[in-house]
Amino acid sequence: MEVTSIIKTLSNETNLQILSILRSGTFNPRELARILQKDESDISRRLRLLERMGIVEGRWIRAGNKNIKVYSLKVEEVRISFEPGEVVIQTSRNGRYEIPIPESKIPKVENFFGREDEIKLLSSPEKRVIVIYGIAGIGKTALAARVFGDAFWYQVNEADSFDYFIWQIGLFLNSAGYSTLLEYLRGGGREERDILELVLDGIESTGMKLVVDDLHKCTDEKILRLLAFIAGRMEHGLLVILSREKPRLGIVDATYIRLKGLDLKSAYSLIKSRGVKIDLTDFVDIYQLTMGHPLALNLFAEAYIEKNEIRPEKFFDFLFWEVYQALNRDEGLMLQLLGLFDEPVEYGAIKHVYPKKNAFVVLYSLLNKGLVEKRGELYFLHDLLRNIMKETPEVDEREYCSRYIDYLIEKKNIKDFLRALRYAVRLKDRDKFRELIELRLRRFKRIIQDFPDAYMKVLLQLENDPYARKELGHIYFQRGFFEKALRLWLEVEDRLEGIHRADVMSSLADVYMELENFEEAEKYLRELEKIADESEDLEIKLWYHVELTKFKYYMDDPEGALESAFKELEIIRRMEPYPELESLVLLHIGDIYLGMEKPEESLKYYHHALEIARAYSLPFMEHLAHGELSKAHFTVEDYKKAVEHAGKAVEYYLRVRNYRRAVDALAYRCLSYIGLNLPDRGEKDAEEMIKIAQSMDYPLGWAGYIFLGVAKSLKGEDGAEYLRRGKEKLKKHPWLYDAVLKELARVYKAAEAGDLFAE
Ligand code: ADP
Repeated sequence: MEVTSIIKTLSNETNLQILSILRSGTFNPRELARILQKDESDISRRLRLLERMGIVEGRWIRAGNKNIKVYSLKVEEVRISFEPGEVVIQTSRNGRYEIPIPESKIPKVENFFGREDEIKLLSSPEKRVIVIYGIAGIGKTALAARVFGDAFWYQVNEADSFDYFIWQIGLFLNSAGYSTLLEYLRGGGREERDILELVLDGIESTGMKLVVDDLHKCTDEKILRLLAFIAGRMEHGLLVILSREKPRLGIVDATYIRLKGLDLKSAYSLIKSRGVKIDLTDFVDIYQLTMGHPLALNLFAEAYIEKNEIRPEKFFDFLFWEVYQALNRDEGLMLQLLGLFDEPVEYGAIKHVYPKKNAFVVLYSLLNKGLVEKRGELYFLHDLLRNIMKETPEVDEREYCSRYIDYLIEKKNIKDFLRALRYAVRLKDRDKFRELIELRLRRFKRIIQDFPDAYMKVLLQLENDPYARKELGHIYFQRGFFEKALRLWLEVEDRLEGIHRADVMSSLADVYMELENFEEAEKYLRELEKIADESEDLEIKLWYHVELTKFKYYMDDPEGALESAFKELEIIRRMEPYPELESLVLLHIGDIYLGMEKPEESLKYYHHALEIARAYSLPFMEHLAHGELSKAHFTVEDYKKAVEHAGKAVEYYLRVRNYRRAVDALAYRCLSYIGLNLPDRGEKDAEEMIKIAQSMDYPLGWAGYIFLGVAKSLKGEDGAEYLRRGKEKLKKHPWLYDAVLKELARVYKAAEAGDLFAE
């Protein structure tokens, strides 16, 4: 392949992100797309390209009866050397493969003037937190971009949310070699405290610099808390905050810089660089009017007018309208269009929305005039100009925003989907809104787990809309607020149509089962059955069987549950790949078989689930399967294998701070060690269980005392005190206590166990 096209491919930000993620393992394109919030077919295309270039390696693996493609990094280094007459690109498997930090989100200032003192101060900062504040357009962004070109740049947007912010930081840290945060988030971790600690840990271990631009726009409490948290504790990283007002984050130990205009000399250089010919003495008056405000200077250079025509009041607006009136019609239209967008937008979007063919030329002319700014591949109007533009509502907002929505939907990723939804809300276009919610149900199922904050924020803007309320119910349900979800769903159940009605029926059946009201659950299940029978929609049929399986399982009808679970599998396999659910259903089938005392069958399905999870790079599902496999192997007294699988689960769950599941796996490993007569190891696991129970009071953790007592007595030591303590702690949970003893009895002769507990 040609050298230039390799360099081009490697200089693409998305490609670099893909490579940086592949550094941590083997991935299926689908999961990569989820992590990067991109369209899956786009990711596949890029992977194939990188494969052709020999940088990544694709291979097929077999999961069940399917072949699934996975990719991993083939080389660790790409070396470009300049030889006489040619440029050579070499790759090697040794050495470092360092991913340059994506730079494109950082604004570029081509001609930068002045600010020598500030640059000096910022280049060797004495404190870990720097706050630059000052009025709009005064040059905060330009200054920070000049000094912190290698930082992670976060542009605050009113619509942003904590989960989205954190995911971006996770991605960045991952590319810098710290993968724990991203892994935690992918594993479904959402505890604020954990996240704060992981972000801090990531920043400290990578020395990350974080620039938060336009903090005054931030309305998300959790983001503010995070910033205050890291600001107070950081020792190696750097936090740079840009804001119009001095922020009230309670950060004491920070360097504060209040930015004023450019000095006379720099201001003069700026307008001269824009091609204005004016004497320094004449410029002095202008300078005093602008106070060296760089954006005003830019406008002045564009509008260059005799100074006696300028009125000092509303100087900025005056300059702007001077410039605006001199624009041709296309330029005016483009400016108004850009004024409609709440965020920087890419050229593709502008081309799609702008009604004429000359988008490129017009955009560039505005860029040259300093009216439009560019950040990476994104174009936008400075907030100051956008606010002035708002006073000219000449464009048809509805028409252009609708076109933008269509463009965003086509991008097929979560981020743009959320954006589309926001515009639909802004236009109060309820049909579009409904259509988008349907898309959420079918294509963007993961939003509820991955970006609940962001999603909730949009939904709350249409809080009274029944479709929005139904979706809010899903978020509450996911967070464990079952009563709240129930209330919302009951309230809207008669106000929804189409697939949404099926959704609410299935949700109601589900939540009633969680609340152990099986009569009501059955009622909704029957409703759902009717809808599913009359519909050809596989999605609805799937929901029905998911709920039916659960219902039968609770009703102690394992045969019925099994039948329905197999039906689920059959439907899933007729739909677009849905590996998370497929492996989950396989695990359920395994559970049902285990309950039916058919451990051999259950092992088969657990293994199958493991294969699917691995093939699609779903670590959470993979370790769920390991946990179940350990349980099943334990049941058939294969303690060695039980230890092996439990070990994998323990290690993963501790890493992603899912302590409940870690304890579950620890319990089986500990019991297996006892079964293998390795009390020393059992003792360690028991102690770990107790440690977790002490910090979070997860009842099963207290069984650690019982296991510890048993391990001690196996070693010939006195374990009675531990046994007593374990019994005491589990007193409140008699059911759990019995279950623990039952499992213990498998590895420790019942008679002896009985002896142990003799008072
Ligand atoms: P703020 O972040 O304070 O709102 P910006 O950094 O966006 O302001 O600056 C506004 C405009 O002025 C931008 O177009 C920017 O490129 C230009 N600008 C700011 N500072 C300078 C400078 N020192 N030299 C040249 N241009 C500058």
